[in-house]
Amino acid sequence: MIPDAWRRGEVAVVGLGKSGVAATTLLARERVRVYASDGAEQPYGGGAALAALRALPGVTVEVGRHDLERIRAAAAVVTSPGIPPGAPPLAAARAAGVPIVSELDLGFRVLRGTGVRCIAVTGTNGKTTTTALVAHLLRTAGLRAEAAGNIGRPLADVALEPQRWQWLAVEVSSFQLHDSPQFAPDVGVLTNLAPDHLDRYPSVDAYYADKRLLFRNAAAGSVWVLNGDDPPALALAAGAAGRALRFSLRASADAWYDAARRELRLGAERLLGRDELRLLGDHNVANALAAALAVRETGVPLGRITEGLRSFRALPHRLEPVREVGGIRWINDSKATNIASTVVAVAAMDRPFVLLLGGRHKGEPYTQLGPLLKPQCRLVIAYGEAGPLIAQDLQEQVPLERGTTFADVVGRARRAARSGDAVLLSPACSSYDMFKNYEERGAVFRKLVEEM
Ligand code: ADP
Repeated sequence: MIPDAWRRGEVAVVGLGKSGVAATTLLARERVRVYASDGAEQPYGGGAALAALRALPGVTVEVGRHDLERIRAAAAVVTSPGIPPGAPPLAAARAAGVPIVSELDLGFRVLRGTGVRCIAVTGTNGKTTTTALVAHLLRTAGLRAEAAGNIGRPLADVALEPQRWQWLAVEVSSFQLHDSPQFAPDVGVLTNLAPDHLDRYPSVDAYYADKRLLFRNAAAGSVWVLNGDDPPALALAAGAAGRALRFSLRASADAWYDAARRELRLGAERLLGRDELRLLGDHNVANALAAALAVRETGVPLGRITEGLRSFRALPHRLEPVREVGGIRWINDSKATNIASTVVAVAAMDRPFVLLLGGRHKGEPYTQLGPLLKPQCRLVIAYGEAGPLIAQDLQEQVPLERGTTFADVVGRARRAARSGDAVLLSPACSSYDMFKNYEERGAVFRKLVEEM
């Protein structure tokens, strides 16, 4: 619930994107006075949303600057996922001893009162896929379930609507965990842990410390779904109250992949065969096991989980099979904007392939891809701003061509691939040299493939 101190004073909302707009609206509905500000003249939330906020009683909206005096005097500050912890308004609040809470925490406080239950998903990789899987499995079982958090819809937005959900699948980032003192999921999933976000954290330990906050409100009734193949992830949960369950790709566990039989299992029971799961790559088997285990804990029968796993399709731009043309399978992995993601995609290839690599360079060398590409990669087509660097790093190791426009790149791939091959767009670079974002890059790829 909303603390009384917030109602007696004013709450500052920092940032007016989707999350900030939803948080401001929710606070106003809860009869809290709000000062909402964004450093940009035209915040991401958009003009119409801001006009609607201005019309709410007790709400002051300011764009183009933050009034730091007013923020220092606030009863609390509500922050959005995109705001770096060192941003001046947050630094000012911290220095003045004003509590900072995430939009997620605010949404959770209000939603908790409605009796909805919550499966939270965090980890370094696979959050969005696992969250979508959880929501899909719950819905297939006939439960009223919604996916929220980082996956797209802010929790504060879910809290605003009259719809009563039974379950929420919530994707949570480490930044959100940092500022979520009240967040207490019924089931928490930790997909895996690896060094990441070193642009925003001083050290790997600081990043892991935020991830550990998933367990901060652990209670006897909590359930934790952990990656049994990932010692750092297991270590992070050590000592947390509640029940810990494990999933594994390697050995028998609460949920596991039996490689000899090629089937996914929950303990001694068979869920489904590997080929019935329509997702590429072992990493997605891990995501499916994690989701199945979490949903089993809600009481959904095994048969329903199997049904849901069978009908789930890859999310757009994440190893998404687009189409087969003349025996060639075209795969859109435009979301792969770093080397690690491309490594995962390459590992998921079960046939010879042509790889489309390029875009705006992010700083890591491409040489490390060489040994992984050797066995099955027929050709690399390097393009975009990073094209020359990719060529330099890889041309000694694999067959490589340079492409020009995106249509030229796709045309070259079509000529080089043979029946039985795949063409994989997994660029390892950002898209900003040629596209608005990775979604647009993937959409253009899809369109070119659909026109074939
Ligand atoms: P996130 O939301 O954590 O970024 P996504 O589900 O959007 O995760 O997947 C993003 C990328 O991360 C995928 O394209 C894939 O390369 C990689 N990935 C997904 N799941 C896993 C996993 N379980 N282990 C390792 N890498 C993964």
